[in-house]
Amino acid sequence: MGYLMEPRQRLSRAKRIVVKVGTSSLTDKHSRLDPKKIQKFVRETMKLRRSGKEVLIITSGAIGAGIGRLKLKRRPKEMSALQASAAVGQGILMQVYEKYFGEYGQPVAQMLLTREDFVDPVRRRNYENTLNVLLKWGIVPLINENDSVAVEEIRVGDNDMLSAYTAIHARAGLLVLLSDVDGLYTGDPRKDKNARLIKVVERITPEIEKLAGKASPRGFGGMMSKVQAAKIACEFGIPVVIAKSSEKNILERVRAGEEVGTIFLPRA
Ligand code: GLU
Repeated sequence: MGYLMEPRQRLSRAKRIVVKVGTSSLTDKHSRLDPKKIQKFVRETMKLRRSGKEVLIITSGAIGAGIGRLKLKRRPKEMSALQASAAVGQGILMQVYEKYFGEYGQPVAQMLLTREDFVDPVRRRNYENTLNVLLKWGIVPLINENDSVAVEEIRVGDNDMLSAYTAIHARAGLLVLLSDVDGLYTGDPRKDKNARLIKVVERITPEIEKLAGKASPRGFGGMMSKVQAAKIACEFGIPVVIAKSSEKNILERVRAGEEVGTIFLPRA
């Protein structure tokens, strides 16, 4: 009979890893891309690559980069203005990644997706074929929602959900959601001194979903959408870790099974 490994230890066996990095982990307080943050993220991704892992990145930051480039005073509210900002910012985002990954000789590829790409069988097959070739060639795909064309009806929604779908379709062994918080807390850590980090979530129950709502009531891209994404990935047997992007060596520590962030255990 095989012995049971700790769930954290099992993470080191994942060959294919999907990492989602959010806008706040890539931009400064004026919404401009922060080269230092991106450089750190790239350095850590390269550690995973060098340990033989295939890495797929779901990256936000296009809208933020556009807002910064256009020197807009605030984030626009209308969908078309957000889409226009993303159209300006996506190229800038890629340029910065290309530069930093290029320093390691690591080729990257841009893939912009909408919900249709996961739903329509022909588009899905095309997308999966492309992805497989990219990974076979040792390329790091940089995936984002195709914001400039994705209106409400065809959006995946947010990049947390996009990362869960990607992990499922790519049959990844691990999904890491990098964020500006450590993981899921029992309350809002910014307001509640007694809020405690939950290290392991064995099952995403309605109570856990309620906690996520309490921990970051702002909604979009907050804890709620992360827990929803984790729920879907876990149902497909993929473990999910939420961790803080600014922590030192965070990706390597997650991969090594260190007790950082919150791990959501997959269904058998
Ligand atoms: N696709 C958006 C962007 O690149 C971000 C969406 C999200 O973070 O959920 O700016």
